[in-house]
Amino acid sequence: MQPVKIITTVKKMQEHSDLMIHQGKSIALIPTMGFLHEGHLSLMQEGSRHADHLVVSIFVNPTQFGQGEDLEAYPKDFNRDMDLCKKKGVDVIFKPDAPELYPENFQTYIALEKLPNHLCGLSRPVHFKGVATIVTKLFNIVKPDIAIFGQKDFQQLAVIKQMVSDLHMTVKVIGAPIIREADGLAMSSRNTCLSPEKRPAALSLFESLNNAKQLIKNGVTDSNIITKKARDIVKFHGDTEIDYISICDPETLEDVQNIKKPVLMAMAVKVGKTRLIDNMLLSP
Ligand code: AMP
Repeated sequence: MQPVKIITTVKKMQEHSDLMIHQGKSIALIPTMGFLHEGHLSLMQEGSRHADHLVVSIFVNPTQFGQGEDLEAYPKDFNRDMDLCKKKGVDVIFKPDAPELYPENFQTYIALEKLPNHLCGLSRPVHFKGVATIVTKLFNIVKPDIAIFGQKDFQQLAVIKQMVSDLHMTVKVIGAPIIREADGLAMSSRNTCLSPEKRPAALSLFESLNNAKQLIKNGVTDSNIITKKARDIVKFHGDTEIDYISICDPETLEDVQNIKKPVLMAMAVKVGKTRLIDNMLLSP
């Protein structure tokens, strides 16, 4: 196994990337919040297919968490993360601490005007401003040629693609498919917070999406019928609180009432204290 270099400061990361660029190497960046799982590993795999040098960032970004969200409780295990990165041939782990990225006088944020006004952005009003800001910072620090993001966080991917286009950034953004557990649950670092008895409730998200796929296949085009059925499936399991279940345009994320072309069905549900998201692209 090759050694993985751990870099914790902005200056050292920028110097390292400058050196790689000088040597003619292309850089792929995989931004993560750590507590890595197969979903993250698939992004690394994709990254190594596209570039010579693979950088994984591990940073639980405080500015994308609202008050009362799980910033403090976010799971961590750096030694395990490091072993996984080594196995995947990651060259550098960039692991700054919060004061390194947000020093006392920090005051510049990136905010999008439309995409955050849907789906997760409605109940997490500061989230995408935090995401857009940290991703911009990571792009400026790591200077990647390409960056890989998971379609699991579909809205995040849309926000980043829009931001890259709006701000004429040169990085190429690639979306990678959702990796699921054997039973269909979308992998997430937060899944470790689910006790075994919560599993059926957690699985109701994927069940709802599959049910929607079947309904559309059977010719149903009214979104209300499909989302109502999804709500029933989720509510059937106790201890669930639906944040949203939405059928929307995959580009604008605006609600679609009558399904005539491919749509995104996306949902967020709290199972116990754990907020889960999932989505599926559906075609009539
Ligand atoms: P996170 O550490 O949760 O911030 O995720 C870091 C990156 O991994 C994001 O681009 C996520 O979309 C992606 N990701 C998380 N879970 C999955 C999954 N189950 N399948 C594919 N990508 C994922």
